[in-house]
Amino acid sequence: MTQPLDQPVALVTGSTSGIGEAIARRLAGDGFLVVVHSGSSVETGERLAAELGGRYLQADLSDADAALATVGAALADLGRLDVLVNNAGVSRPIPHADLAAATPQEWRDVLEVNLISPFALATAAAPYLRESRGCVVNVTSHAGVRPKGSSIPYAASKAGLNHVTRLLAAALGPEVRVNAVAPGLVDTPLTADWTAAQELWRERSPMRRAATPADVAGLVADLAASDYLTGEVVVLDGGLNLL
Ligand code: NAD
Repeated sequence: MTQPLDQPVALVTGSTSGIGEAIARRLAGDGFLVVVHSGSSVETGERLAAELGGRYLQADLSDADAALATVGAALADLGRLDVLVNNAGVSRPIPHADLAAATPQEWRDVLEVNLISPFALATAAAPYLRESRGCVVNVTSHAGVRPKGSSIPYAASKAGLNHVTRLLAAALGPEVRVNAVAPGLVDTPLTADWTAAQELWRERSPMRRAATPADVAGLVADLAASDYLTGEVVVLDGGLNLL
């Protein structure tokens, strides 16, 4: 193991695009050395890491055993971790009534990336987070709180991660805090053509708009900065769940 860093370190999974990139930029602005992560966009990740003065880590989260080993080795090399943001996720739209389309393989694919790998990364991170009295922030979804979302496997994976958030908060306190942000619709390239959802948020949500990636990043930064909040799932949907 190399000499541990003086600067606080944040690992943000899936941070070469969308919400993860905004979180990486925000935490770098807040003084963290950010480890930018992706499964495949290596060049983009290396470029962003260089721009933010951070590091880059490639790890495919569709194999949680391999991800546990890769991330474990990277953390041993860094020697320090203060914040783990489990942001990476997969979402393939499947109408909820089309049960046959949500095949067992689809379930396995979604659960591996959205639920099992975040737990594996928390496992790899826990010794370092105990040492730094750090925290985990999971990016889940309002679909894990209400019966909504792009598919039933996706919604169930996010509901599972919401509960893992509470279970880990109970298991890892008092040294490590664990919270989740559960966004509603967020304007990212992924949702650019989700016109029905955009209309719903514009016309019916109390805030009359979808969230921006910066809205999510701001809440992640606030949760990371707290000294006391743990075990909470904060729904960030502009108030749509009130209706
Ligand atoms: P995105 O597609 O831009 O980001 C997803 C990230 O996850 C990408 O960087 C991708 O490379 C990474 N990823 C996916 N599969 C991976 C794998 N096998 N290994 C490693 N990395 C992998 O989408 P986004 O909208 O920025 O989503 C970020 C998170 O926010 C996701 O967990 C998503 O479920 C959640 N979310 C998004 C919205 C929204 O409206 N955009 C709403 C609620 C929750």
